[in-house]
Amino acid sequence: MFEKRRPGAVLFDRDGTLIRDVPYNGDPNRVEPMPGALEALARLRRADVPVAVVTNQSGVAKGLLSPDEMDQVNARVEELLGPFDAWAICVHDDADGCTCRKPAPGLVIRAAAVLDVSPRDCVVVGDIGRDMEAARAAGARGILVPTDVTRQEEIEQAPEVADDLTDVVDRVLSDTASPVAAIAAPWTRAIGWSRW
Ligand SMILES: [Mg+2]
Ligand SMILES: [Zn+2]
Repeated sequence: MFEKRRPGAVLFDRDGTLIRDVPYNGDPNRVEPMPGALEALARLRRADVPVAVVTNQSGVAKGLLSPDEMDQVNARVEELLGPFDAWAICVHDDADGCTCRKPAPGLVIRAAAVLDVSPRDCVVVGDIGRDMEAARAAGARGILVPTDVTRQEEIEQAPEVADDLTDVVDRVLSDTASPVAAIAAPWTRAIGWSRW
């Protein structure tokens, strides 16, 4: 039930997950992939698993980043990491009360809809608690990849924690270490994140 199942899609947070987090970055020259990102994406693409980006960009709402600058940064991300099957972007801030800014589930639901898969068939990969909350709220499987800025309580509360993006893909494709994934995330067995 748990092993060897391919997810419908893997949805990645952008900043601090796919690329180094440069707050409110509008400069494509400052885009730097996280270690293992390119190979992790390549493995998913080879396995025919759609990959997407789900990203909060409140710098737009704050006026710190123009939509055009954001587009240029995203284009640079695709130059370095290859094309994504969907992008779901929230350009609002907390005070806007939108339904897409993580921890709300809107970006996960939107990306899943674009890819024509159920959110329950999706894996959400991120570096902070907001990503995991969005996954949980959408019914997706969340995997946290902590960085230096991830808080201890976010790690403790995460449904599943991976060492890095290589470990994420190992878990997602069940190439290796599926018993570890099962131990780390007993609720995925209890609730079931498979297709129905
Ligand atoms: Mg992040
Ligand atoms: Zn929003």
